[in-house]
Amino acid sequence: RDDSIVAAIIKCANFAAIKHANQRRKDSEKTPYINHPIGVANILTDEGHVYDLDVIQAALLHDTVEDTDTTLDEIERHFGKTIRTIVDEVTDDKNLPKAERKRLQVVHAKTSSHNAKLVKLADKLYNLRDLERETPEGWTPERVKEYFLWARDVVGNLRGTNDVLEQKLDEVLERNIHKN
Ligand code: NDP
Ligand code: ZN
Repeated sequence: RDDSIVAAIIKCANFAAIKHANQRRKDSEKTPYINHPIGVANILTDEGHVYDLDVIQAALLHDTVEDTDTTLDEIERHFGKTIRTIVDEVTDDKNLPKAERKRLQVVHAKTSSHNAKLVKLADKLYNLRDLERETPEGWTPERVKEYFLWARDVVGNLRGTNDVLEQKLDEVLERNIHKN
C-alpha cells in the first residue's frame, strides 16, 4: 500500500514537472515554476498536517490545467475522476476576462469542496509569502496591495477548513494590509 502511495505522488510531481518545464515564477531569480506546486503540497503536509493522498496529488497538479496545455480529460485519464474534480475546482476559466476570474474565485471559494479549499488555502499562502518576499518585476505597489486585499476576500470564504493554514494566512495578511 505504501508503494502505491509513493508511486502516485511521484507520478504527479513528474507530470507537473514535465508540463511546467519551460515556465518560471514571476520573481527576479526566475525560479522554476515547479517549485510552486511542490511548495504548495509541502505546505499542506509540513504545516497543515494534511496527508490525504487526493489532496496532495491535486496540489501537485493544481496549476497544470490553468497554466499549461493540460486538459481536465488528460488529468482524469492519468489520475482518475476524484483528482480531476479537485483540479477543476481550483482552475480559473481562462475564457473569462481577468477581473471576472478574480471575482469568481471569491464567489466559488465559499462553495468549494473541503479538499479544494485545502489546496486553495495552501496556494494562497505560498503566493502571499512570495509577494511578501519580493515584488514581481513590473508590479506597482498598488497592484501588490490589490492582490493582498483580493486574497483576503478569497481566504474569508475558505474559513473553517484548516486552523493552522488559516492562522498563517491571517498573519501574512495582517503584516501586509495596512489600515487607511
Ligand atoms: P496575476 O494573476 O497576473 O499574477 C498573480 C499570480 O501569479 C499569482 O496568483 C500566482 O498564481 C502567480 N505567480 C507567479 N509568480 C508569483 C510570485 N513571485 N508572487 C506571487 N504570485 C506569483 O496578478 P493579478 O492578480 O495582480 O492580475 C490580475 C488582475 O490585476 C486583473 O484584474 C488585472 O486587470 C489587474 N492588473 C492590475 C495592474 C496594476 O498595476 N494594478 C496591472 C496589470 C493587471 P499561480 O498560483 O497560478 O502561480
Ligand atoms: Zn498556484
